[in-house]
Amino acid sequence: VRAARKAMDGEWGKLSLTDRKACLLRFAGVLESHKDELAVLDALDVGKPFEAAKGVDIGEVIATVTWYAEAIDKVYGQIAPTSEIDLILREPVGVVAAITPWNYPLMIAGWKFGPILAAGNTLILKPAEQSPLSALRTAELALEAGIPRGVFNVLTGDGTTGDELVRHGGVECIAFTGSTAVGKSILRAAAETSIRPVSLECGGKSAALICEDANLDQALPAIAGAVFYNAGQSCNAPTRILAPHARIQEVVEGLQHEASSYMPDNPLTSQTAVGCIVSREQLEHIVKSVESGLEEGGSVAFGGRVVHEQTGGFYFEPTVIADAHWRMRVSQEEIFGPVIPLEAYTSLDDAIVSANSTKYGLWATAWTQDIRTAVRMQRELRAGTVAINNGFGGNITTPLGGVKQSGIGRDRSLEALYKYTNIKHVHWNF
Ligand code: NAD
Repeated sequence: VRAARKAMDGEWGKLSLTDRKACLLRFAGVLESHKDELAVLDALDVGKPFEAAKGVDIGEVIATVTWYAEAIDKVYGQIAPTSEIDLILREPVGVVAAITPWNYPLMIAGWKFGPILAAGNTLILKPAEQSPLSALRTAELALEAGIPRGVFNVLTGDGTTGDELVRHGGVECIAFTGSTAVGKSILRAAAETSIRPVSLECGGKSAALICEDANLDQALPAIAGAVFYNAGQSCNAPTRILAPHARIQEVVEGLQHEASSYMPDNPLTSQTAVGCIVSREQLEHIVKSVESGLEEGGSVAFGGRVVHEQTGGFYFEPTVIADAHWRMRVSQEEIFGPVIPLEAYTSLDDAIVSANSTKYGLWATAWTQDIRTAVRMQRELRAGTVAINNGFGGNITTPLGGVKQSGIGRDRSLEALYKYTNIKHVHWNF
């Protein structure tokens, strides 16, 4: 933290916007030339396919750094409509601690360090204990790109380290992505030492609401892709499906067909679409979640098994639990694996109540060909993002974050850049 403060008070804090922009564009270039290496590190750490790590995760990091570098000299202050001179300026917030999860290690870190650095701050990145390698290498590459020493720091360790960092009085802003339980603990710990902005990107249990008139040829490949990709370890994936009774069979058959493209395999071979589960603990959590779904009245429509055990890795088949109900734990709690509870509904009113019934509000998707129903979904689904007729959607230009216990604040877009600034009002009476 002292190193980050020193860099803030030194050369970095005094760089012109043009030089800061040039520095970050150079950084994006250096990351681009190390794309394979960074992708291998993420693949080794979390077992995601090398090709996905390279094309999706690392590609997104480079796009993020470039986008925020380009934004640096396009953000204006304001003049208030008083009869005197009142300026509203944005200044760097200072030393920022970013604490990140393992599911998209460098990509989510990039959504933090891109805007943090672009806004002129210094950074202490605490990656997840399962996946520190790409963050460490990125800090070295930042130096190579000419970012001064002390600007991009990486602190490895587990939750104890994260907690110490959050409690450090020299940290002036905290940005977290991870579980809701840890997010709450960070809010409490942060308040004990000081008052500073805390943004939280927490868990999700996003509903995919299939309406009577949905085009399933469009919906099912998209939902299967969103959930089964990354072995189900995606915070905003639509991990609950709600469908009208009459379409349940069609949904099961369609998803089963799609699932065959997402069977997990060795992450380091080029044909693999889906790799492993990150750890034994996570695999055990998935197995227990499926068991709880069955105990509470659900049934396995397909999947439900651990596979490739002989490899010593942690693999789970794409799975659908039929006969689910919104009160069941599988419908309420994060599984973070390739498992979808499927609920049948009788009326759209009931489906909307069910979709909004969890403590989370990160994302929701609705599938309909009727624009009036789409407008109703947009209005009534309580989530940071509502996607109509798409599983994911959006990119660095669109904000990502949740309502309810999915968090506070947004990653991506200019919202994230603003998050790492303080507003200063300057009144002139010259
Ligand atoms: P986690 O909450 O266990 O850990 C996240 C990070 O917090 C890690 O770096 C960990 O070491 C650190 N940490 C743990 N305890 C801490 C403490 N007391 N104080 C400070 N830091 C602490 O989450 P995870 O298992 O790494 O990741 C999965 C979770 O992340 C899921 O809940 C998922 O939904 C969520 N997630 C959310 C988003 C989003 O954009 N909303 C994106 C990705 C993942």
